Amino acid sequence: MRIQLPDKNYDVVVVGGGMVGASFACALRQELNRAADKDRRGYRPNHERKDEKEKDPAEISILVVEAVDLASSSDQTSTAQPSFDARSTALSYGSSQILEAMGLWQQLKDSACPIEEIHVSDRGRIGTTRLHYKDYRVDALGYVVDNKELGVVLNSVMESSSSIHLFCPASISAIKPTAAGMDLIVNSDSLGHSISASLVVLADGGRSPICEQLGLEQRVQDYEQHALIANIGFKKAHRNIAFERFTDTGPLAVLPLKTLGKQNRAALVWTLTAEQSAEYMVMAEEELLEKLQERFGNRLGKLQHIGEKFCYPLRLSVAREQLRPGLVLLGNVAHTLHPVAGQGLNLALRDVAALASTLSEAVADGANLGSMDVLQQYICKQELDQKRTIMFTDTITRLFSSNSRSKILARKFGLIAIDLMPSIKQEFAEQAMGLSTNS
Ligand SMILES: Cc1cc2nc3c(=O)[nH]c(=O)nc-3n(C[C@H](O)[C@H](O)[C@H](O)COP(=O)(O)OP(=O)(O)OC[C@H]3O[C@@H](n4cnc5c(N)ncnc54)[C@H](O)[C@@H]3O)c2cc1C
Repeated sequence: MRIQLPDKNYDVVVVGGGMVGASFACALRQELNRAADKDRRGYRPNHERKDEKEKDPAEISILVVEAVDLASSSDQTSTAQPSFDARSTALSYGSSQILEAMGLWQQLKDSACPIEEIHVSDRGRIGTTRLHYKDYRVDALGYVVDNKELGVVLNSVMESSSSIHLFCPASISAIKPTAAGMDLIVNSDSLGHSISASLVVLADGGRSPICEQLGLEQRVQDYEQHALIANIGFKKAHRNIAFERFTDTGPLAVLPLKTLGKQNRAALVWTLTAEQSAEYMVMAEEELLEKLQERFGNRLGKLQHIGEKFCYPLRLSVAREQLRPGLVLLGNVAHTLHPVAGQGLNLALRDVAALASTLSEAVADGANLGSMDVLQQYICKQELDQKRTIMFTDTITRLFSSNSRSKILARKFGLIAIDLMPSIKQEFAEQAMGLSTNS
């Protein structure tokens, strides 16, 4: 629920109510409600509790502090007219399962466009691979959802839950470790409020001074590329196919979107140099469509329209430390990936699910939520998945962004090998579907 003033003490304070912070608050609430429900139904009678420090899971207090005023869910219902220009995200099949376990997928499913096939190719060269959902016994390889729609669903859960306090617009301006966790200053309406937390979950996207204050460093590699993002309209229907195409300027992704009226829509993620992106951002629509058509080809017929354009500089950024006593990093502040393989939010959602279940188990054990023992359990669950996903995305980005002869050959044989060798194809598909995690 929205609050006007925060309490003095919380068990968990989430800094940032973006896609990751909000997902985490909802996932933790869901895990704790499940645990409380089990207790009530007598699966774990009171006399079996380990010691009296143990809290009732339903009493664990959660505060989400978000700097930007989130429009109230009553202002933007999911029946709101979708926009041609809405930005979107490719969720893997694994992420749809995580959202289902959180009780959110039902609300998103109807507006999500299923990805039934992924078509990977190298522009102007032989070597392609195709993944089809029927080969993997899933309903779809993934789904493309409007970011706004996901935001509406997450906000409505936070607003309707009496045990999540949502304080926004407000921002954390100072943070200090203490013996019991962290002390924070929250600013809102030019007032500063002091609060304490056993655990701070930092999901601020990594662009705030908090990391600096805590001396948390990032390992950064600039790809020297920009992503131009826009929705595009084609003559032909996309038939629920996602295209990953590798061009001389870098990878280009075209993701299927739900049809709007009679318009065949797709989401474009186009990797360009800084100079090209600056030029293309201001280019006349017709000229830009020609350039894009030349890069993408005619698979979906003539390109008809390009919507509002957004541009993002691309880099790989990985936090050197994700844990400290009373602190854990989630989402972009923990790892920011190149968007072309569509793995950033998907990895963050797997982290979210693992952290929420670890904390719920810690509550059941009467453990301190901010203790390194508890936080290490979380990172042990996710370490391999994080390394693998970061490496997968980085390798694809580098391999498919170079015009060196060796990389072109590696691409050609890589794509042919993926297509011909079932075990490699299976591994590639599992990573794309978010199912290749910690085994
Ligand atoms: C072009 C592009 C396309 C992408 N496509 C995909 C895709 O298809 N699939 C996929 O899985 N991933 C994709 N990603 C990655 C995905 O968008 C990110 O993983 C995700 O947005 C990270 O969310 P976040 O909540 O960590 O950070 P953010 O979205 O940056 O949210 C951080 C929040 O914290 C708040 N905040 C900041 N500082 C403070 C403070 N001091 N106090 C309070 N609040 C604060 C901010 O207001 C903000 O709301 C894409 C990324 C890009 C750039």
